[in-house]
Amino acid sequence: TKYKEGLQKTRKSFSERVNDLVARYRSVDEDFFEDLEEILIAADVGVSTVMDLIDELKMEVKRRNIKDTNEVKQVISEKLVEIYHGEEDEEVAELNLQEDDVTVVLFVGVNGVGKTTTIGKLAHQLQEDGKKVLLAAGDTFRAGAIEQLNEWGNRVGVDTIKHSEGSDPSAVIYDGIQAARSRKADVLLCDTAGRLQNKVNLMNELSKVKRVIEREVPNGPHEVLLVLDATTGQNALSQAKTFADATDVSGIALTKLDGTAKGGIVLAIRNELGIPVKYVGLGERVEDLQTFDPQAFVYGLFA
Ligand code: GDP
Repeated sequence: TKYKEGLQKTRKSFSERVNDLVARYRSVDEDFFEDLEEILIAADVGVSTVMDLIDELKMEVKRRNIKDTNEVKQVISEKLVEIYHGEEDEEVAELNLQEDDVTVVLFVGVNGVGKTTTIGKLAHQLQEDGKKVLLAAGDTFRAGAIEQLNEWGNRVGVDTIKHSEGSDPSAVIYDGIQAARSRKADVLLCDTAGRLQNKVNLMNELSKVKRVIEREVPNGPHEVLLVLDATTGQNALSQAKTFADATDVSGIALTKLDGTAKGGIVLAIRNELGIPVKYVGLGERVEDLQTFDPQAFVYGLFA
């Protein structure tokens, strides 16, 4: 139901158009598939993902000998879930939480995508699950970033480890790890600067931060979550490629899905980058962060 609400815009444009298509066509022919292709591309599913999907659909329709366009609707949702999962039949991608050590989660992403908000929301969610959480204000570059993270921390009742603006991000993360250990925190959520304008700086900074974590925490960082803004559509996809080149991204948090009619971007990201979407943002409130569930998502599109 969270998905149903949050995906209202996408659902309206997508499922209404699919319903209309199904009503217009009597038989499942080449024109039907062409129109469907257009609808999927308009929902930002991404051209190559759409091609894969249409091929799969055609095969399945043939295999099951489907003639009725209404029946195709069911196959579309099945195939959308399948295309998300890819070859592996994985379940919902969970956060890689450590049993007997602090779990270190690094957040990366450009400014304005909703990184701070997502950290705050996730801190809240983890606390609700009984985890002790600490934040590290590793974006020492953008003016106001430290204070903004600190405010989110206060709001959800979590401490923030911070230095002054302009200081070395890896020193902040180092302190965050020490503090997490001494306070027996379960999870340390680390913010980082999102300056994509200079790819070399970004890479250097991220690799330095990662080195510090690797040195202090065995197997750390346990997650590198890339935050992307769904309303930026295909631009989010190219950001993802840049970050995936700069560092090992283990998962994606896709924000502002409630603000776009192009929720299909989730499928494009998964299919074209092979990185699982772990969280989706479906609103501005603290409870509006959801663990991404492909099946619930696709059903949310058609509900
Ligand atoms: P940052 O610069 O990446 O840290 O971005 P912020 O966390 O400051 O978020 C930028 C804006 O996006 C804020 O106004 C947030 O309230 C808003 N925002 C973040 N996530 C979501 C979401 O899932 N849905 C909506 N509608 N707004 C969001």
